[in-house]
Amino acid sequence: MTDLATTSSVSKYEVVIGLETHVHLRTASKLFSPAPVGYGEDPNHNVHPVCLALPGVLPVINRYAVELAIRASLATHCTVHERSIFARKNYFYPDLPKGYQISQFEEPLATEGWVEIRIDDESGDGEDKSTTDKRIRLTRVHMEEDAGKSIHDDGVAGSDATLVNLNRCGVPLIEIVSEPDLRSAVEVSAYLRTLRSMLRYTEVSHADMELGQLRCDVNISLRLRGEDQYGTRTELKNLNSFRFIEEAIEAEVKRQTAILESGGEVVQATLRYDPDRRETFVMRLKEDSDDYRYFPDPDLIPLVVSAQEIERIRTAIPELAEQKCERFRRGYGLSDHAATQLTQTRALANFFEAAAIAHGQPKAVANWVLRDVIQAARECEIEIDAIALTPESLASLIRLVDEGKTTANSAGALLRELVANGGDPATLVRERGLEAVSDSGVIAEAVMAVLAENPENVEKFREGDEKVINFLMGQVMRKTQGKANPASVREALSRELK
Ligand code: ADP
Ligand code: MG
Repeated sequence: MTDLATTSSVSKYEVVIGLETHVHLRTASKLFSPAPVGYGEDPNHNVHPVCLALPGVLPVINRYAVELAIRASLATHCTVHERSIFARKNYFYPDLPKGYQISQFEEPLATEGWVEIRIDDESGDGEDKSTTDKRIRLTRVHMEEDAGKSIHDDGVAGSDATLVNLNRCGVPLIEIVSEPDLRSAVEVSAYLRTLRSMLRYTEVSHADMELGQLRCDVNISLRLRGEDQYGTRTELKNLNSFRFIEEAIEAEVKRQTAILESGGEVVQATLRYDPDRRETFVMRLKEDSDDYRYFPDPDLIPLVVSAQEIERIRTAIPELAEQKCERFRRGYGLSDHAATQLTQTRALANFFEAAAIAHGQPKAVANWVLRDVIQAARECEIEIDAIALTPESLASLIRLVDEGKTTANSAGALLRELVANGGDPATLVRERGLEAVSDSGVIAEAVMAVLAENPENVEKFREGDEKVINFLMGQVMRKTQGKANPASVREALSRELK
């Protein structure tokens, strides 16, 4: 639990938050020009006369960007309008060569949707954790182009120089605007995680916050509990990490609380968060701010999408995390926890499901995936969608354990190799000499040695402390390098002890 959750639950003020989330669409080229979209290229290489606003150029809409924007709108239960309008949002900034950004204003692509978030209740933990579902309403989803990037003080050009990189200029974005329905940093975090998961499942965006593909403006106000009017809001601009978002909310709630407590009034303003001082600072007040003089862009005709086209996009939306999670719980009898973990990414969920079908016992497969496969992938530093282990070979490996042909221990040890290089589990077990030892002579010898080395534990067992058998089992397994068939070991131990 964060400090904020603690303070807000005891505070007389209720925290009210609405988010404007910017998402880079996963296109190869920009929204109105053929320049490529990229993240690692040298500065000012992904540009084209349209991004540079050279005289005489005209924007041409990227059809695939429209499809992705509609997909995201439908996945968030918005109504997609058959007709929407691109508008010019005028402002001067060195990283905006045209002097205006093409966005949507009065007639956006989509309106009135919702995202359902799930929040862990404060009581209970582990498998018994109870959760509450909450709907966060969305006001709108609109399309726009990103601006370039100004780099202040890059350490080379001198501290008073500002460099401009136009690679990002014109990258397609959607802005998802929520209603002020969020009530804490915890809810904001859950909302963003749900959005990020949806954007990735639908392949609308890689939604990598570090690359600026997902970033948000956080609007915050306070009001007395029980009050139904909202207080005056401030807006924290362009936050792009979960940690900064949480810290910034906490700092801003503190700042506004202090103002209200001293009898003052919060002034509507745009703020910046300083992570070093953990404080929020006013950048500009609302009254001297943004008059963007929006008007419909005369270079662009209205964006018209037919109802059939919208339906085509709707039917192609894949199953999302929540639906998959629910299906895994009901269909495969998985715990809430396991189903949630397995549906974190579409790649992991698909891997699990294919392995579960190949093996036939979903719960056992879930354990293997969550415990061993994830760990092996992490150790090998390979993403789940790139591992060499196939779902079918995981199923055969587990089957070898089920049939007592190798031990869970040995199988676990093989996983790293399978994850990195692939291969046939049965062959590898044979080649590496990892067959389970069921040879009663070998096991009996190890059992006798362990009993001789641990007389005090043998004594304890005979005095009725039956749990020490687990310790002794461990010792025998160790003596056999984890290869002894555990069932045979337990049997031999019990026999000798009794
Ligand atoms: P602007 O462009 O002025 O920032 P928008 O309408 O695009 O305005 O966004 C307003 C955002 O602020 C929305 O996410 C909305 O939910 C949120 N918001 C509006 N009023 C409040 C309030 N009193 N407290 C917190 N958030 C608010
Ligand atoms: Mg705003």
